[in-house]
Amino acid sequence: MARYRESVCKLCRNEGVKLFLKGERCDTPKCAIERRSYGSGQHGQARKKLSEYAIQLREKQKVRRLYGMLEKPFRQTFRDASHKKGTTGTVFLQLLESRFDNIIYRSGIVSSRAQGRQWIGHGHFLINGKRVDIPSYKLRLGDIITPAPNSLAFMRQTLESRNASPKPPHWLEVDLNNLSLRFASVPNREDFDPNIKEQLIIEYYSR
Ligand code: SF4
Repeated sequence: MARYRESVCKLCRNEGVKLFLKGERCDTPKCAIERRSYGSGQHGQARKKLSEYAIQLREKQKVRRLYGMLEKPFRQTFRDASHKKGTTGTVFLQLLESRFDNIIYRSGIVSSRAQGRQWIGHGHFLINGKRVDIPSYKLRLGDIITPAPNSLAFMRQTLESRNASPKPPHWLEVDLNNLSLRFASVPNREDFDPNIKEQLIIEYYSR
């Protein structure tokens, strides 16, 4: 599978926002955007007047990078959302949030979506008792995620070493003792990042 291999901090700097791609480092003064809050490269500090198209493109890229997705599956998720009932922008965000890697990240068990993808790929989780190693798998309401046999001790150890106190959103029921969780309810628009302007993404894909 194609992968982005450059520094992910460049992505944050170029989008001008924290995308939280590096786990714990993102909340420390070592965060690249805290130290250099301008774009990367020779022209990173140049003032740019963005066209309407460029504004839409940047918003789409920002959200795509936030969820760590390639263009093709991201566009396909948008198409799927546009065929479903409801407000396309909200349904689109709901579909993104219901991705397996995102749910593991939101639960607080891992520190980034990238780590979630890695753990899923290594087969550390079961969904409803069956091993699933596909990070893009879309969870359904009521699905239960549990650690695979032999993975619980390793996960606990990692969580303790991070000294993390996860704060999962209300739409996920998380049992931090057993590191299991349930997709309890569909998140609403107000549960998503208010800085995401999904209307711009709709306009971008409707061109
Ligand atoms: Fe982005 Fe995290 Fe790097 Fe900061 S540390 S620039 S939030 S990926």
